[in-house]
Amino acid sequence: MFKSQNSLTARTLRQAALRIALVSVLAGAISYWLNKNSIEDGVRKQLILSTEQTLQRESLPFREIRDLQQNFLHEFKQQYEIPGNQARLAHDFDLIFYRHPDGSYTQRPGLFEGKPLADGRRFANMSATYAPDFAPTPDIKARFALSYQLSYKFGSSAHGRLFNFYGVVPEKGFPIYQNADIAKVFSYSGPNALKLETYEFYARGFASASHETLFTRMYWDESNAAWMTTIATPDIADTRGKHRILACVDVLLDQLMQRTARPVLRGSQNSLFLADRDGTLLYHPQYANAIKQSQGGASIRSLHIAADYPLLDMLPNLRPGETSLIETGHEIVALGIIPDTPWVLAVHYPKALMQPAILQNLAIVIAVGLLTLLVEIFIIRSILQKQVAQPLSRLMMATRQVGRSGGSLDKNNLPIHAEDEIGELARDFTQMAERVEEAHSALERKVEERTAALAQANQKLAEISTTDELTGIANRRRLDEVLLEKWNHSRRTGTNLTLAIIDVDWFKNYNDYYGHPAGDECLRKIAKLLKANAKRTEDLVARYGGEEFVMLLSIPDSQNALSYAQKICEAVEQALLPHEDSPFKRVTVSIGISDTVSGASSLEEFIEQADTALYRAKSQGRNRACKF
Ligand code: GH3
Ligand code: MG
Ligand code: MG
Repeated sequence: MFKSQNSLTARTLRQAALRIALVSVLAGAISYWLNKNSIEDGVRKQLILSTEQTLQRESLPFREIRDLQQNFLHEFKQQYEIPGNQARLAHDFDLIFYRHPDGSYTQRPGLFEGKPLADGRRFANMSATYAPDFAPTPDIKARFALSYQLSYKFGSSAHGRLFNFYGVVPEKGFPIYQNADIAKVFSYSGPNALKLETYEFYARGFASASHETLFTRMYWDESNAAWMTTIATPDIADTRGKHRILACVDVLLDQLMQRTARPVLRGSQNSLFLADRDGTLLYHPQYANAIKQSQGGASIRSLHIAADYPLLDMLPNLRPGETSLIETGHEIVALGIIPDTPWVLAVHYPKALMQPAILQNLAIVIAVGLLTLLVEIFIIRSILQKQVAQPLSRLMMATRQVGRSGGSLDKNNLPIHAEDEIGELARDFTQMAERVEEAHSALERKVEERTAALAQANQKLAEISTTDELTGIANRRRLDEVLLEKWNHSRRTGTNLTLAIIDVDWFKNYNDYYGHPAGDECLRKIAKLLKANAKRTEDLVARYGGEEFVMLLSIPDSQNALSYAQKICEAVEQALLPHEDSPFKRVTVSIGISDTVSGASSLEEFIEQADTALYRAKSQGRNRACKF
């Protein structure tokens, strides 16, 4: 008998489980890889899209500033060059400005609050100061007055959107549209109060003949308690490389920083830095304090942000508004220049953020794989159990039953109706079992027959071995057995046993006269006659040999035995069997008897005594009985 773990079902299930597990692991691995790639691709696309949108959105105010400044410079040039306009503007200068005793100028009081000039013009939210190194020429006056008026015009048109707007003349004239009540900052406090040459925008704006827009370094403005930058665009320099006007806007960076601090994608972090050699930082989530302490001087390089160094290498390839992707050790970074600014926005997306989604997907694949495995095993198991193992086991039991007993087969318990190989096997088996059964019962019948025949033959043999063939009475062999038995019994119990030896008289003559077959017939008749005279069942009549017979009789009285023997002699004579060659003319017998009570010491002596008595009977004339 096989062990249960070697059963067909267990083996098939183990193999199926192994195969499905392998397939699941493979599927899991492939799915992990595909899914990882697809999630990473998705993240990359999303990063590019969101970053580009952010770049475009953040560029909007700077585009407006660029347009405003270009329009300002264009209008400045146009108005300034209209013939006769310079004199009118120089006159306006005198209307708007007030000369202090030290030779410096500020606007007339009340203009900031919106008090009109004599001609009704109002310059609300404007303030101005002018600390010339020398007395203003009509040209300077005209440019300063024009700058004042245009600053008012463009500043008030962008009111609410821009912090302020101003046009600066290189002769240190500073009229400003101020969208906040900081008029006091510009309240007059002497010619040295406003040292424009110390300001980055002023110094850089007039330093070269270039008319490129410049962004100052980010600075912490104490009076506004805010990060700011100044955007300045000079007009096209004249042939001597001199500028006439510089259009400026101060920009509050708080909102930009707040927006930068907000993740573009869930879990991402943004940094903002200048597209310069060092990556001077405007915003970095981890280094806000360092930036503030350095007054905006901290950079990727100065702070040794090694992870962000690759971003610096990318800078020469960047085109405003376009997003590039770069992968650092643990991040995917999307970076791009905000159009119309020198600033680079970098969106840092930690790769670890993708892990849960990837792992979740993997977990789903594994779970589905395991579920499939279980379902598959369940299905295979039930198929195998129901359709293979159980039918086979029933067949096996039936085989054993047939093998053991050859007993009848219960067909109903076998899968003979199944339409598959097992059904065929069961049907074949049933047929075979029926044939075995038939053969078995045929064999049994034959054995029974043979056994009966053998018993009969044995019985016959037994009879033959103890029966005389000619006469049908007990033979000499049987006589010897019974005689010994009865002799012993008589000696043991003291009961009398009589032995009578009966010899046919003149039988040689009979044979000679009638022939041997007639002799045989005669012997048969005598035997029959003797048998008929043996009254008791225990009395034995046997053929002693030739024409001699023996009778063993249980006659207690020996006198009775003699008369009994004499009666037998008479009975034979009375049977009237003819014997022409005998003096009696009929068949007669002589009988010699002995009995145990006469005192024979051995069986041989006992027989001899009977023989002696017979001899006497013969010698006394035959046809008589004598007793020893
Ligand atoms: P007695 O009166 O002295 O007994 O004379 P008898 O002729 O009978 O005795 P004997 O011993 O001389 O002869 C016995 C004969 O019995 C001899 C034999 O031919 C015959 N005989 C013995 N057995 C058989 C037998 O089986 N069949 C036939 N037909 N004859 C037998
Ligand atoms: Mg004889
Ligand atoms: Mg004789």
